[in-house]
Amino acid sequence: MNWENLYERLTTINSKIRVYQDEPMKKHTNFRLGGPAALLVIPETEAALIATVQTVRETQAPMLLIGNGTNLLIRDGGFPGIVVKINHQGMKAVTVEGTKITAEAGALLSTVSKRAQQAGLSGLEFAGGIPGSLGGAVYMNAGAYGGEMKDVVTSVRVLNQSGEVSTFTREELAFGYRTSRFHQAGDIVLSVTMELMEKDPGEILLTMKELDFKRTSKQPLDKPSAGSTFKRPEGDYAGRLIDVAGLRGLRYRGARVSPKHCGFVILDGEGCAKDVETLIGMIQKTVFDQFGVQLEREVIILGDEKGDGDE
Ligand SMILES: Cc1cc2nc3c(=O)[nH]c(=O)nc-3n(C[C@H](O)[C@H](O)[C@H](O)COP(=O)(O)OP(=O)(O)OC[C@H]3O[C@@H](n4cnc5c(N)ncnc54)[C@H](O)[C@@H]3O)c2cc1C
Repeated sequence: MNWENLYERLTTINSKIRVYQDEPMKKHTNFRLGGPAALLVIPETEAALIATVQTVRETQAPMLLIGNGTNLLIRDGGFPGIVVKINHQGMKAVTVEGTKITAEAGALLSTVSKRAQQAGLSGLEFAGGIPGSLGGAVYMNAGAYGGEMKDVVTSVRVLNQSGEVSTFTREELAFGYRTSRFHQAGDIVLSVTMELMEKDPGEILLTMKELDFKRTSKQPLDKPSAGSTFKRPEGDYAGRLIDVAGLRGLRYRGARVSPKHCGFVILDGEGCAKDVETLIGMIQKTVFDQFGVQLEREVIILGDEKGDGDE
């Protein structure tokens, strides 16, 4: 692939496309890890995104879509293709209309939640502390404290694999525990409409503050991570099993089981994605050996291993 040509092409087709060459992915993930992408593209508008995807498709370059990078571990070899990033650096418009909120996929979930509170709309209190984009939250059916995206989303506009824009209703989104139709379909979420309920803004704020306190007192938010590393196993908690297995604080080079919350693998000091991936494997093996429970990853691991000859 001639990345220089593609870079030139992307920078000229639409003025709202920002393109970076050989961009370290550690600048775009909450883990602060990940080798370079050949090109990283941030479309600032929906039209810019559509033009980007069309161009990428024409060249058949490998493409990876990310949101705010908060549920991702990108390997140290990076991604030898184009990473398209949809977050609040680009498509972030939010509109409130009665009890309905429609927002672009790049809007931060925390911003949308705050806008709902200010408008006296209840239903997104659970989402105030989830650091992802709205598109990533729909993809993951993000949730916390008894709430999930599936409870509020009514429809999603997408750009599908054939380059067409279409709309799906909630029933068509195949929402489940940390999953949605997008895990299979490969469609790109453009915007999301949510239906909320009227409530006193002060009461909503109080709930949000309580949840925020719970989160900050229990989670290692001062360390790079991708949030909960594992999904909840049936009838239990990953953090509890990891703790009882004696792994609290376990370190593998720069990666560590958070001493504050065993469900989080954190980066603690100098480290690389390989350290994190290795520690995740060690945790899974120990928990399986001790309890027969296979912990399933919630964090998504992507990209290439670093080769021997890589710098
Ligand atoms: C400190 C911390 C706390 C967290 N707490 C929670 C929590 O309480 N609950 C919870 O559920 N999660 C939590 N998370 C995980 C994470 O924030 C969520 O999974 C979030 O929804 C991911 O959104 P993102 O934009 O960062 O997606 P990314 O991590 O960038 O991407 C995740 C997946 O979504 C896909 N994606 C992103 N944008 C789009 C789009 N526009 N269209 C289609 N697919 C897209 C990507 O391709 C990728 O496969 C936490 C993470 C951290 C770091």
